[in-house]
Amino acid sequence: MSTVVFFNYPAYGHINPTLPIVTELVRRGEKVFYYALEEFQSAIEYTGAIFRSHGKDFPFHLTNAELSTAMSLHCLLQTSQWVLDNLLQEVRAIQPDYIMYDAFCPWGRYIGEILRVPTVSMISGLLMNSRILCGVPSATLEVVSVFIKKYKYTARSQAIANALSKKYNLQRSNIIDLLLNDGMLNIVYTSKAFQPLSSSFDQKHFKFVGPSILPRPQTHHFPFEKLGEKPLIYISLGTIFNKKAAFYRACFEAFADTDWQVVMTIGRHVCRDSLGPIPSNFIVREFVPQLEILQRTSLFITHGGMNSVSEALYYNVPLVVVPQSADQPWIAKRVVELGVGRSLSPRRVTAKSLRRAAEKIFSQPAYANAAASVGESLRTAGGYKTAADEILNFKRTHGIR
Ligand code: UDP
Repeated sequence: MSTVVFFNYPAYGHINPTLPIVTELVRRGEKVFYYALEEFQSAIEYTGAIFRSHGKDFPFHLTNAELSTAMSLHCLLQTSQWVLDNLLQEVRAIQPDYIMYDAFCPWGRYIGEILRVPTVSMISGLLMNSRILCGVPSATLEVVSVFIKKYKYTARSQAIANALSKKYNLQRSNIIDLLLNDGMLNIVYTSKAFQPLSSSFDQKHFKFVGPSILPRPQTHHFPFEKLGEKPLIYISLGTIFNKKAAFYRACFEAFADTDWQVVMTIGRHVCRDSLGPIPSNFIVREFVPQLEILQRTSLFITHGGMNSVSEALYYNVPLVVVPQSADQPWIAKRVVELGVGRSLSPRRVTAKSLRRAAEKIFSQPAYANAAASVGESLRTAGGYKTAADEILNFKRTHGIR
């Protein structure tokens, strides 16, 4: 049995896929200390891991995930500084044999380096390189222009990284290192078939294990008995970029009084009453048990978060992607390239374009067939069990029993 400390980023899309892997590691005898916000405590404890709170002064919160890349990087560097200054001694006392961290957590990589233990990075988005970035020039330009416009944040991020290198005797990191945070081993929750240019990534250090899926403890009741036989459209913009009342209203207009049943999640910030009368064929909730809903879904209209897209394809569900931010424009492009769905521009999306996209998916079986074939690649990638195999093999190659 070895001891591992896990650091994660406070967002469902980053925590959810780690839970089955941690469950499996604990089942195989690893002792896992998992640092996160209290919001995730019960889900983490359900895996058998030992939950450690980041504490009330932790500087990064769920809402920070909405920041632009430049500001978010600055926030992550400030958080790294806070973690090293406040938690390092506590983590050192745990005497971890290795460190696992989400790729958005520079502090995980830093602590591994300070304690001189092997590191495993968990990647919940698409892997990026310059060729993939250039595949969506408009989105790349947007990111670059934000870095330029917010150059003060970029410069401050680099200054914090330099100060940390000096104080803790760390290798110097540039902005790209800080955005990627590669570990000695990197677990990617998709398949080689879904990841663009997958063969351009070093196969020894990057392991494509597919989505990490296990039934989740139910936190939100859902009236499954109300779902009838009609084909189901599920609509969700995920848990971060979901304050989009106009989009939800457009969905009402597109699908009210049709022969489709619709389940729509709107997050906790948009008030259901502010959307006007809910059409009789809709069920609208703040949050739904997505894995269970997807197993009954014929079409998923999504923001294109990596987890949402992978989970849908895992259950052979074709997609309409309306990308909002982050890596979603690249994921939307991949969805279209693989023929598993269509993409709509978030700026131009209307009730009419949503309805037309849905009709195309339902009338052309090629979309569902392609979704089933990519779904097969995701299911056979091995998921949480293969991730656990890779992690345990990796630690053994580092002499850890
Ligand atoms: N999710 C859920 N119920 C909801 C909305 C989202 O269970 O009503 C889960 C979903 O299954 C996924 C995660 O939250 O695992 C969202 O991650 P994703 O990467 O798709 O998007 P993000 O929320 O990070 O933008």
